[in-house]
Amino acid sequence: MKKPFITKEKAQEIIKTYPTPFHIYDEKGIRENARNLYKAFSWNKGYKEYFAVKATPNPYILKILQEEGCGVDCSSLTELMMSECCGFKGDDIMFSSNVTPAEDYLKARELGAYINLDDFTHIEYLDQLCGIPETICCRYNPGGKFSIATKIMDNPGDAKYGFTHEQIIEGFKVLKEKGAKYFGLHAFLASNTVTNEYYPKLARILFELAVEIKEKTGVEFKFINLSGGVGIAYEPDKPQNDIFAIGEGVHKAFDEILVPAGMGDVAIFTELGRYMLAPYGHLITTVKHFKHTHKEYAGVDACACNLMRPAMYGAYHHITVLGKENAPCDHKYDVTGGLCENNDKFAIDRMLPELEKGDILCIHDTGAHGFSMGYNYNGKLRSAELLLKEDGDVQLIRRAETPADYFATFDFTGIMDKYLEK
Ligand SMILES: *Cc1c(COP(=O)(O)O)cnc(C)c1O
Repeated sequence: MKKPFITKEKAQEIIKTYPTPFHIYDEKGIRENARNLYKAFSWNKGYKEYFAVKATPNPYILKILQEEGCGVDCSSLTELMMSECCGFKGDDIMFSSNVTPAEDYLKARELGAYINLDDFTHIEYLDQLCGIPETICCRYNPGGKFSIATKIMDNPGDAKYGFTHEQIIEGFKVLKEKGAKYFGLHAFLASNTVTNEYYPKLARILFELAVEIKEKTGVEFKFINLSGGVGIAYEPDKPQNDIFAIGEGVHKAFDEILVPAGMGDVAIFTELGRYMLAPYGHLITTVKHFKHTHKEYAGVDACACNLMRPAMYGAYHHITVLGKENAPCDHKYDVTGGLCENNDKFAIDRMLPELEKGDILCIHDTGAHGFSMGYNYNGKLRSAELLLKEDGDVQLIRRAETPADYFATFDFTGIMDKYLEK
């Protein structure tokens, strides 16, 4: 069962001030989840979560996570700038980028962020640009398929990220010669995993590699970064990850591999995005039109520009009709937005309670990779983002776009002046 964190009454009250569609985030849920993550890894002295900013790039969300002890994982100049403005600096920031522009590295260096290199050639590139920092991290890609038991989880051999085994050993040698003193190791091998085995399996791969690299190159590892990829079950009837079992699985691998190698002081870092935010966001949208042709369509005021995952990945997002939580799901609908794209469907052949115009739908698990993947196709405007605070108040944390925002990049031509606020 997926239960919305707002009721129909609360939604109606909010809509008086902030019309649908909007994304709303649950501060209480975000904080509790972050605290449990820290508890699950409390066995590790230096543990730190670097929230993947790209999942939910909103300074108010970053501030909440900062208060819970998290840093940020950035991959672009603007993510670094947002993090800077939120007061993250130095070892609060992990910079895990790829195909990195020079100005991005320069900003990361200026902020004193940990730099996580994606490729062997970036060692020379960074060195030429601004020198190699004292602490440096490299991203590993073992190639092949990544499987747990017999199930293929993902395909690192096809992924553009990271150094090969041979490159990473050579890479650490070169970095050491260039004067780096402390080292980190990173890998991201499978996305949205819903199994307690992913992190422990990844940890074993990275821990064994770290021991090998230390033996072959003499570098001292300060941290091992398990990156993101711990997922959530988007379907209502699937079991969720157990973060305590995940933490213990990594602990066991740590005690079996790193401790005997004299590396028991290595810090464990994570860069979770989805796990930190997805369940604590809803996209709230109103039913506007019905259409009966070859299928039954319910048209809503949100579209794929507000939530791209169903259109892009065919992803399932659970839908609750607010106020009809207990009604039988005995009607079948395609729930659609208004883009001139037939993949603009939040749900296909979904059994829902009978819908009426004006019904308010809660689309679940949109707190990560939701608003952030938004776009402006068909001239659709980005929605507002709201925060449901712990005391029940609702705070606007990003206003909805206006047509003037959409036309803003024509401000030098004069042609759209009629709609550009002066
Ligand atoms: C996307 C990404 C993450 C976060 O991934 P989630 O699946 O949201 O946990 C972390 N690190 C890097 C480098 C990423 O690209």
